[in-house]
Amino acid sequence: MPVPSGTKEGSARPRPSGSPGGIPEYGADPAAAAAAVRLRLRDDTEPVRNLATFLTTSFEPEAQRLHNAYLNRNLADREQYPGVDELVRECVRMLGHLWGGDPNGVVGSATTGSSEAAMMAGLSLLHRWAERTGPGNRRPNLVMGAGVHACWRNFCRHWEVEPRVAPARPGCIGLDAGSVAELCDESTIGVVTVLGGTLDGRYEPVREITEELDRVAAESGIEVPVHVDAAGGGFIAPFLDPDLAWGFDLPRVVSINASGHKYGQVPPGLGWVLWRDRDHRSRRLGFPVNYLGSNHTYHEFSFSRSAAPVVLQYYNFVRYGFAGYRSMHARSRILAQDLAARLRGTGRFHFLGDGRDLPVVAVTAEPDLKLAQLAAHLGECGWSVPVYQLPPDLDELTAMRVVVRSDLRPDEVVAFAAAVDEFTRSTK
Ligand SMILES: *Cc1c(COP(=O)(O)O)cnc(C)c1O
Repeated sequence: MPVPSGTKEGSARPRPSGSPGGIPEYGADPAAAAAAVRLRLRDDTEPVRNLATFLTTSFEPEAQRLHNAYLNRNLADREQYPGVDELVRECVRMLGHLWGGDPNGVVGSATTGSSEAAMMAGLSLLHRWAERTGPGNRRPNLVMGAGVHACWRNFCRHWEVEPRVAPARPGCIGLDAGSVAELCDESTIGVVTVLGGTLDGRYEPVREITEELDRVAAESGIEVPVHVDAAGGGFIAPFLDPDLAWGFDLPRVVSINASGHKYGQVPPGLGWVLWRDRDHRSRRLGFPVNYLGSNHTYHEFSFSRSAAPVVLQYYNFVRYGFAGYRSMHARSRILAQDLAARLRGTGRFHFLGDGRDLPVVAVTAEPDLKLAQLAAHLGECGWSVPVYQLPPDLDELTAMRVVVRSDLRPDEVVAFAAAVDEFTRSTK
């Protein structure tokens, strides 16, 4: 159907032209409008050159066609698109299986990302704690490491939960089993442990943390559930570290989140949150809705949005299979480790992450090497790389992070390392 672009003649009462801040009075033809948009965005970083992002930046043509084809289906409209709803449940089952759970027991939701997933998982912990401990006026707390993603502090802020953050130690910002026991008490709603830190790409020792909490339970009777923030690792560890125990195979792990749009290889806008089973998801999270002629119970915060990312998640499972994901991510991890070795060769960096867990390289530098200047130099070579302050306790330190994604080529890693080397030599 042709869309009229609102010509002067067709408009009954034109508003005063040139009113600042408003939408244009008259439209343009599609090509001209698209050109105007491209012009506005032309100075943004080219996503594949953005070494800062964890998000997927390349898609096969078939995936792009599928995305376009299902862009106009509403994920929330379960009555009209029961097939989409079934794909969500199928993805939840597959992820549950991948994460060591019972595929027929797990429950979960497609979210807009791990941030929404964290809100839901945190709220479920909060409700279940309140049900466990009964009414009282103690302030609930959530235990986490210094390297947690901002979404967990955000959760605590919105729901007035005290964030109990284990201090960072030199060279390590993740939570370790040793600091968990002293932080937990009867007001602890749960422990968040991270599989693949945003800042360093390192896995926290999930199994050791759950064992420490088993000891706490045996000694004090306080049962503290564990949520695993596997935003990155949920799509890496099952393929590359099959012997690592971190998921639902550990009985204390009640819920897990992951970002489909990171190593799940889906376009921006998809995360997952799963609970071990129905009993471990707070009933209060579900809200029954009578909408578009049917009764459904929703377990998401957001409502209408495109079903296309879910379609692509399912497509990816079918397209790549376990072996395809494994070889794609193994290649990225090898490349990340190769990059780390090249940077190590300069003798000027200390490693927070060297690609052994997530395919991420994170470094701090000798005091005479300014990472901000290095990042500026890399920017001139066409690479966007973030430089950031480490969390409190280490915040005098600056770090630089490179996320190796599946669309980075070996020759690009060589070129990138050469650009770093060139800079470090010039500043000796
Ligand atoms: C990226 C990330 C998040 C937030 O995920 P989004 O999908 O961007 O909302 C949460 N936790 C960790 C560990 C992350 O790396």
